[in-house]
Amino acid sequence: MENLTVLGTGVLGSQIAFQAAYQGKEVVAYDLTDEILAKLTDRWEYLKPLYLRDLPDATPEKLDAAISRIRASSDLADALKDADLVIEAVPEVLQIKRDTWSKAGALAPSHTVFATNSSTLLPSDIADATGRPEKFLALHFANEVWRQNIGEVMGHAGTDPQSVDAVATFAEEIGMVPVKLKKEQPGYIVNSLLIPFMTAASKLFLHDVADVAEIDKTWRIATGSPFGPFEIYDIIGMETPYTLNAQSEDPEMREFAQILKRDFIDKGRMGRGTGKGFYDYE
Ligand code: NAD
Repeated sequence: MENLTVLGTGVLGSQIAFQAAYQGKEVVAYDLTDEILAKLTDRWEYLKPLYLRDLPDATPEKLDAAISRIRASSDLADALKDADLVIEAVPEVLQIKRDTWSKAGALAPSHTVFATNSSTLLPSDIADATGRPEKFLALHFANEVWRQNIGEVMGHAGTDPQSVDAVATFAEEIGMVPVKLKKEQPGYIVNSLLIPFMTAASKLFLHDVADVAEIDKTWRIATGSPFGPFEIYDIIGMETPYTLNAQSEDPEMREFAQILKRDFIDKGRMGRGTGKGFYDYE
């Protein structure tokens, strides 16, 4: 799989496109309009210093070569015409995903394999819309794909194992560590572990059992883990936990969401990205 098309060039789509191009793939980045695609220049300028900081083999020349392998297109037929693999990173809304895949399914070459980067939807929610369910699965990245380089590969019951293998190989070729799930699991592996853990930590905080630094320290020392839960909140940033918990069925977690909004988001304490969150980093 040498030709990748990425559908959606937001936070994750831009990172996936850049990472694949950095590892030598030919990439087409598709989004709805040329105005949105014009913002990709800013995305590359944002990513370049992070690659130079985090990856020992990164050089300005390699990063410019990566950008030269990415072609932007707002014409879906044109974007898909040479694709071996399509990775979709459009908004996390079922109907948008199904519409996008139904259009892509009608336009892409018959050999093209389709992968969604959805965090919360299951491949079986979308597979029939593609017109080629056997070639459809999930390849789930984590934010900051160049260093949080996990690639969770998850088919639905009807996915051809050859497509699973091909996508896992592709993920490895672009620098991910692929992990194949044997069955569909909401939240994959990472969020199946992370969300209950973060919920438990949030309740220790809500019940004022100990200060956040003490909770984090306990976890680090007792498990050898590099980060405690509130350090992880600062890495993730407050926006996603706020959105998830504001919709929780658990009233305590809805209360926690309001604290995230009032004491953190509204005060610009968004996490490490802004220099402060539960901790000050300056
Ligand atoms: P985002 O809002 O930053 O980007 C979405 C992009 O899709 C935008 O550029 C938008 O213009 C485009 N778009 C909207 N409708 C479209 C359509 N019909 N066709 C093509 N493009 C369209 O979103 P994001 O954070 O990059 O998330 C995208 C996907 O990645 C979601 O499924 C999300 O669950 C998943 N994901 C996100 C993260 C994260 O940390 N942000 C991590 C893992 C997975």
